[in-house]
Amino acid sequence: MVHTGNFIKVKCPDCGNEQIAFKRPATNVACHVCGSTLIKPTGGMGSMKAQLLEVVD
Ligand SMILES: [Zn+2]
Repeated sequence: MVHTGNFIKVKCPDCGNEQIAFKRPATNVACHVCGSTLIKPTGGMGSMKAQLLEVVD
């Protein structure tokens, strides 16, 4: 990847799991615990369902 610091820490709204995810994913990002879709890829920024906790650099 060209840019760094494109990772975010998100919290699953369904089960409360916290995990690191790519900010602009090419594919759906699913919760590692319950499988709920946290981030959906769009043309630009990912569409966020999960709660954003912090940006991880
Ligand atoms: Zn979950």
